[in-house]
Amino acid sequence: MAQSDWPISLNPKGTALHGVSLPTMGTLDSFASEKLAELERAHLRRRLALSLREDGLWITRNGKRLLSFSCNDYLNLTHHPALKTAAIAAIERYGVGSGASRLVTGNHPLLAELEARLARLKRTAAACVFGSGYLANAGIVPTLVGKEDMILIDELAHACLYAGTQLSPARTFRFRHNDSSHVEEILRKERARFRNVLLLTDGVFSMDGDRAPLRALAALCAAHECWLMADDAHGLGVIGAGRGSAAAAGADVHVPLQMGTLSKAIGSYGGYLCASAPVIDLVKTRARTFVYSTGLPPASAAAAIAALDIIETDPALTAKPLAKARRFTARLGLPEAESPIVPLVVGSAEAALDAAAKLAAEGFLVVPIRPPTVPAGTARLRFAFTAGHRDDDILRLANAVSRAVGDIRTEVPAPCPPSS
Ligand SMILES: *Cc1c(COP(=O)(O)O)cnc(C)c1O
Repeated sequence: MAQSDWPISLNPKGTALHGVSLPTMGTLDSFASEKLAELERAHLRRRLALSLREDGLWITRNGKRLLSFSCNDYLNLTHHPALKTAAIAAIERYGVGSGASRLVTGNHPLLAELEARLARLKRTAAACVFGSGYLANAGIVPTLVGKEDMILIDELAHACLYAGTQLSPARTFRFRHNDSSHVEEILRKERARFRNVLLLTDGVFSMDGDRAPLRALAALCAAHECWLMADDAHGLGVIGAGRGSAAAAGADVHVPLQMGTLSKAIGSYGGYLCASAPVIDLVKTRARTFVYSTGLPPASAAAAIAALDIIETDPALTAKPLAKARRFTARLGLPEAESPIVPLVVGSAEAALDAAAKLAAEGFLVVPIRPPTVPAGTARLRFAFTAGHRDDDILRLANAVSRAVGDIRTEVPAPCPPSS
């Protein structure tokens, strides 16, 4: 890497920083080194690449400017002047940090305003903003279900829904991806043994780009008295005229727990839950990641509010990322995109790394996705389309992908069998 490209000086080996001499290797370091070597052999070692995003589309990495198809900044709002102005104004007035948990002194009025705006957009009575989407899921799930309860979770649900699941003593059943008949089968067999049941799914699946059958799941939840929770991190701002996948499923589809993030299409940072007033009050009283974690900084809330202004007033913008993704899938003869996310499964981690390197050589940043983020044998290229991608660049990308991946595989092999 050309270190002169970066404003900070890096130690090339990342070892003896600042001239401090380090203690010799003990069991802890040898544990870490051996583990890393093992991951390296399996092509699963991960490395951070310094990434400079100077606008919502281009990234400079290793001294090279690449057109990114890997950002979740679907509406390119991270660099929108209205969001920057709102964040800067909030910093000037209120400072940088929120100072404490929201239950102590960190409950800035901008957070209440943001919650009211999210509830309005999602058509729920109330909302709760968390420090991040991950924190939201890790807090919500154990607040709602415990020892005598049951969790049903899509096998491909996001890692942080699984994190929430692991923090709850509820009995967990994984169902086959987007398979409502499997959900029904489990409910028929198991429902009676449990008090409350929480069904967890992504609204838009983060690594597959497909959408949950929310209408069918909501009907099953109504019939078997279960609580449906959809994680719409990749739906807000880009599906259902910007209102997300529950809205897209239909006004009559009841999704009582609508969770999401402010860090993707919204372009800021933070997580949220939209739900009824009593549920939100309970979450604010009991969710440990809400109670024991510092409130979101005012600037992040101000930027998110500015983003919601844009999303609510510009439905044409919210439709663009999906339209762009569909140009790409049409060009390559892939199944029509259901969201701005398009996966191209190549199989092995090595093949995914190789394909990504070929695309980088042609000026495109497409980060390969490997296990454990996706099931073994389903390593893939994951393309994320944004409103600002130009059609001719999408065609150039499609051509480069054909060359890089030669024999395009479109079918996702069956993931590991569900366990209960
Ligand atoms: C990114 C993501 C999250 C986590 O949100 P953060 O705000 O980035 O912590 C949660 N769920 C899904 C489906 C995601 O893709």
